[in-house]
Amino acid sequence: KADTAMYLAKKRGKNNYQFYIHEQGDMLDRKFKLEQTLKHAIEHDEFYLEYQPKLELKTETIYGVEALVRWKHPELGIISPMEFIPIAEESSLIVPLGRWIFHEAGKQNKKWHDAGIRVKMAVNVSAKQFEDPQFVETVHQVLTEYQLPPRYFGLEITESVMQNINQSSIIIQDLKKLGVKISIDDFGTGYSSLSVLSKLPIDYVKIDKSFVHESTTNPNAASLVKTIVEMGKNLNFELIAEGIEKQEQAEFLIQNGCYRGQGYFYSPPLSAAEVEKLLNKKQKGS
Ligand code: C2E
Ligand code: MG
Ligand code: MG
Ligand code: MG
Repeated sequence: KADTAMYLAKKRGKNNYQFYIHEQGDMLDRKFKLEQTLKHAIEHDEFYLEYQPKLELKTETIYGVEALVRWKHPELGIISPMEFIPIAEESSLIVPLGRWIFHEAGKQNKKWHDAGIRVKMAVNVSAKQFEDPQFVETVHQVLTEYQLPPRYFGLEITESVMQNINQSSIIIQDLKKLGVKISIDDFGTGYSSLSVLSKLPIDYVKIDKSFVHESTTNPNAASLVKTIVEMGKNLNFELIAEGIEKQEQAEFLIQNGCYRGQGYFYSPPLSAAEVEKLLNKKQKGS
């Protein structure tokens, strides 16, 4: 690793070399600090969830939310899951953290349910969590503890979770027996094809935001989106587009048969209280 850094730096010249090493050092310090404080953070409730609304694109009504975890680090401030989830995976701390996330999401949805708000709650699951032998039991516990109708609870898994397709398919079948909904997240960025997925009892396919972003400017991305929608329909998947940032993108999706989505154009991830306000406003306003 040091050799590679040296080589790259030499190519860039001497000043850059120092800069490069320095930056890399800072990044390693930060990673080390996160690794060292993660366990303590789980035990001391430094995490919280935000919820991003998911909408029916034609009517712009919210039908669900995706729970997204954040870490409020006492020294480093708010840290993105893109930074700490991989660290939690390496140390297997994702398993207890994942349990906390499931319980928190379940508890929130129960609160909404009791207040008469019916909204689907989707929770992200990473590979290590999925491999945990007690994973299905955790999901079962959350459903019973909060008495949630399982159709209001969903899991988002990425294609990488399904590297061992035989093993995964057994777990997915067990989860389906509980009645929860399964989505494939970030579809199009991995290596699996829709025909492989069609052998699994999957409910939703989420089109990755990178294709959604380019759908109105890059003809290749546009035809890719069209193909995913077309094939998804034939294979009986529901489609959801992620990362919708512009009106044109929403229009493109609707025109091509994708009727559900989420993105900054509609709403960023919000606190539970903010989501509740949106849901109440919608119900009273229309
Ligand atoms: P993801 O599941 O694909 O979530 C979508 C990400 O896109 C979220 O980033 C969301 O805030 C962001 N996003 C939403 N709308 C837009 C948009 O219009 N434009 C753009 N550019 N981005 C948008 P976030 O919250 O930083 O999460 C990143 C990833 O971290 C997630 O990707 C997921 O893989 C992982 N993650 C987040 N929460 C959890 C969790 O509770 N458990 C696990 N295992 N992974 C999680
Ligand atoms: Mg997701
Ligand atoms: Mg995604
Ligand atoms: Mg993603």
